[in-house]
Amino acid sequence: MISSYPRLLTPGPLALAPEVKASMQSDLGSRDAAFRQVTRDIRQWILEFAHAGPDYTAIPMQGSGTFAIEAALTTFLKDSDKVLVCANGVYGETAAKILRRHRLDHVVLSRPITEPIAVRDVAARLAADPAITHLYFVHCETTSGVLNPLPELLALARSRGITSVVDSMSAFGAIEVVAERDPFDILISSGNKCLEAPPGIAFAIIRRSLLTPEQTVARTYTLDLHDQWRSFEETGEWRSTPPTHVAQALRAGLMGLRQETVTGRHARYAAIRDRLITGLHPFGFAPILRTEVQTPICVAFRNDELVPDALAFTDYYQHLRNAGLLIYARFHEASRSFRIGCIGQVDPTWVDELVEATRRFSQARRRPGGGVGLGQRAAAAPERRP
Ligand SMILES: *Cc1c(COP(=O)(O)O)cnc(C)c1O
Repeated sequence: MISSYPRLLTPGPLALAPEVKASMQSDLGSRDAAFRQVTRDIRQWILEFAHAGPDYTAIPMQGSGTFAIEAALTTFLKDSDKVLVCANGVYGETAAKILRRHRLDHVVLSRPITEPIAVRDVAARLAADPAITHLYFVHCETTSGVLNPLPELLALARSRGITSVVDSMSAFGAIEVVAERDPFDILISSGNKCLEAPPGIAFAIIRRSLLTPEQTVARTYTLDLHDQWRSFEETGEWRSTPPTHVAQALRAGLMGLRQETVTGRHARYAAIRDRLITGLHPFGFAPILRTEVQTPICVAFRNDELVPDALAFTDYYQHLRNAGLLIYARFHEASRSFRIGCIGQVDPTWVDELVEATRRFSQARRRPGGGVGLGQRAAAAPERRP
């Protein structure tokens, strides 16, 4: 039983293993041999988890996942390029916003958040627009937890000679990525999702042939992945001050994954997901996705009776919070859903606590007059401590 408050049931940041937190005690010098070894290990192990051979390199970048996305898009897209962005959730839309901000040419293929990207739709768009040079898609769209068809989309891009850019932020480490079998060009992820490290370091796995002066554009200084890579290769150092403690924790997180394996982690998260879905079912909560496309990363639940709108969700969120449980704090209006994360060091008993807290919420709501004012009552309840 992990003693941890609040208990994070969010799709990043997440509950960390004690070993990962303990690994942040050493104050290493950023240009010292000991830290260069940490950096080498991180880069090497990330490549190993991607089953990526000598054609690839891993480039860490300071910041949250979005920093690495913006870094990849601004380093590898030339003014003459055009991106097809597949969007079936907020993260696909974020990529389009980044492209718009940098005035980079792109078109968006939108799908409902409950549906995976359809390969035939992408094929039709590519066939109709020969100007498209890049395909961007999200591996697991964390808005709903839906799995997009990575092998098929990569095969399609390859068959048309188009550069692929994958946001595997919430999938890498729990859903197998095998570069040898499904070669990609650019794949982006971050330490604070399924690698179970604290936020602060994201990374891109890049096909080495893209790392030439002709293929890259330095649109910013800090997010220049080509320059960052050159620094790693030439000196073993980050260009500007790295988060040295977070890097050590990421190394520890990767070590934990080596022990557990990606398959083992997938199974552990899937057990949490199934326990959540089964436990919340009696109170009218149902996932918005079909089972076949539901990943074990997070579950988007909908309950039109108990949590019909953002106001009711705020009450539910506060009620859980008072029980020491944090779920993702935003209500998705369009789908009337909210999400609960299954990733990180989630103890199965936390799910039982969440189900029990939901039972009390449901009982209070169903009482006459229970709909209004519950938030205040819940907020006044004493907070639980470990
Ligand atoms: C978490 C996440 C991101 C990046 O979010 P940050 O808040 O910048 O870490 C991007 N894409 C997906 C699919 C994600 O789950």
